[in-house]
Amino acid sequence: MKNPSDNSEELRRKVLGLGDSSVRKTHYPSLRRRLVELEHLRSQLQRREAYLAEAQRLSHTGSFGWKALGGEHTWSEETYQIFEYDRSAKPSLELVLQRTHPDDRALVQQTVDRASNDRAGFDYEHRLLMPDGRVKHLRVVADALPDPSGAIEFVGAVMDIKAAKHAQEALRRANAYNRGLLEASLDPLVTIGPDGKITDVNAATEAVTGCARATLIGTDFSDYFTDPEEARAGYQQVFREGLVRDYPLELRHRDGHITSVLYNASVYRDEDGKVVGIFAAARDITARKHAEEQRFSSMLEAVRDYAIIFLELDGRVASWNIGAERIKGYRAEEIVGQHFSKFYTPADIANGKPDRELQVATSEGRFEDEDWRVRKGGSQFWANVVITALRDASGKVNGFVKITRDLTARKRAEDELKRYTEDLKRSNQELEHFAYVASHDLQEPLRTVSSFSQLLARRYQGKLDAQADEFIAFVAQGAIRMQNLINDLLAFSRIGTRGNPFAPVDCREIFQAAKKNLGVAIAESGAVITNDPLPPLVADQTQLTQLFQNLFGNAIKFRRPEEAPRIHVSAIRQDGAWQFSVRDNGIGIAPQYFDRIFVIFQRLHGREEYSGTGIGLAICKKIVERHGGRIWVESEPGAGSTFHFTIPDERRN
Ligand code: ADP
Repeated sequence: MKNPSDNSEELRRKVLGLGDSSVRKTHYPSLRRRLVELEHLRSQLQRREAYLAEAQRLSHTGSFGWKALGGEHTWSEETYQIFEYDRSAKPSLELVLQRTHPDDRALVQQTVDRASNDRAGFDYEHRLLMPDGRVKHLRVVADALPDPSGAIEFVGAVMDIKAAKHAQEALRRANAYNRGLLEASLDPLVTIGPDGKITDVNAATEAVTGCARATLIGTDFSDYFTDPEEARAGYQQVFREGLVRDYPLELRHRDGHITSVLYNASVYRDEDGKVVGIFAAARDITARKHAEEQRFSSMLEAVRDYAIIFLELDGRVASWNIGAERIKGYRAEEIVGQHFSKFYTPADIANGKPDRELQVATSEGRFEDEDWRVRKGGSQFWANVVITALRDASGKVNGFVKITRDLTARKRAEDELKRYTEDLKRSNQELEHFAYVASHDLQEPLRTVSSFSQLLARRYQGKLDAQADEFIAFVAQGAIRMQNLINDLLAFSRIGTRGNPFAPVDCREIFQAAKKNLGVAIAESGAVITNDPLPPLVADQTQLTQLFQNLFGNAIKFRRPEEAPRIHVSAIRQDGAWQFSVRDNGIGIAPQYFDRIFVIFQRLHGREEYSGTGIGLAICKKIVERHGGRIWVESEPGAGSTFHFTIPDERRN
């Protein structure tokens, strides 16, 4: 390629008609300036042409000029590219038609003819069919420009609109797809504008309202619900909060049929993010609701142990189940519609109890009571009654559900138990009193027997025969034994009646006191008594000392001859109580006697073998029970015994 400066030199020479270099020396200042300007313009033009060609290439837009009435055609580089002709081809309408899709040729011809006739521009689309079978989509736009002679030249652009066509097609398909989705939905779908007017619906909405799309669009969304206010509140909430979930409404069909739905809705926005409407989808829950109601009512029907009654706001019975029939004796048809005060005693009715219960249920949501109620025929039963207020969607009370249980049997059992417990307490007290009085009063004659038998012994010892001596000794011993028994009985009866009030006590002190009282026995037997840390208690100190003393005393008394007694006391926390264990290494007890040994005057050995009256463990049991605990033994003959007892720590007398 030639250097552009060479080119311009040539041009300059041509313009100036100069043939040799001598002119270079000649000075034509104005001409020279003009040349420079021209040169500048020329290069500017060249640059612009290059820009234009590039722009055409990038936008797939070629340009053309065409003089009407068989005049010549000029095509830009990009136009050649679009038609896919070699630069050597001479542009013409024939070339265009050659490439035009056979189906579109008539259209092209007609357009060109009309433009020539009308001397007017045109704008149309047609397809090209390339030799290799490819199809291109063209848009051809032209203006008709008259030249000074009056001839028309069409100047225009040819655009390869493949990409745009694709995009358009994709959009069309997407739209069709989306629409298809909306229409395929069985859920009624609707879009709503900010003014609450419907902007679009699907076929399901048409079906559920019985109104055509054209009718629905532009009308108030809320008009199609049983409660328009509620519907309005719903879409206003969506505009306010962006969405709602499972918003319950009832859609009304033109023919009056009602469909229960749950609405899920959210706002949608334009490209700038401005909210332009609501997209709302309704889920038909009629069948579900119906099934639930059905299930619920058959459940209510089937409940036999509870009377479940629905009451109107004014207290009239609205529904009645089998349980109600069973408990109150009325059949549904006898009682539905009547006021529920029928189930109250005349005294309760007189002081306004039924209405008061509804007031409490209304203000507090719930009322519960246990009292006498009246059956059909006037008999009474002990009832547990719960009345719960029922509210509508806005929270207003619109009725009550009343659940009644017949607790007469339980009440009777409780009353019986109470009476029995009281009787038992009284008879226990009487018995204790009797034991006390009897043993106290027995002491007097016994003392007489005892002192006179001693007198007899002293005065007539050896003076009567040997048998008489023996008999007198028996009487004296019997009197002493009886004295001991009476003393034990007195001690036993005093535990319930003469106990001290419970107070905080230190177990270590009790433990020491018990050991001290047994000082002689411990020393004689060589017993060793040990203990784990013992807790503080709230108890009767004297009785606890006696308890430990009796257990230690037995452990020493019932020791194995070959071994010195070893006694160990431990305590653990168990279920709100301290459980003490007194373990020894004595003779042990056979399991069949585990209960018997705690019964008063029950012994397992003869007096000659081991001394005692059999009162010790009975006293222990009574003391433990007075403190609210229990006592038991674990043992094996020959392997020692462990006596356990509990003292609850929170108990006060
Ligand atoms: P007593 O000691 O006056 O016989 P208790 O009521 O204290 O009366 O005891 C009842 C019986 O339980 C005793 O006669 C004895 O047979 C048995 N027993 C009590 N404690 C022990 C013990 N630590 N080891 C073996 N046997 C015992």
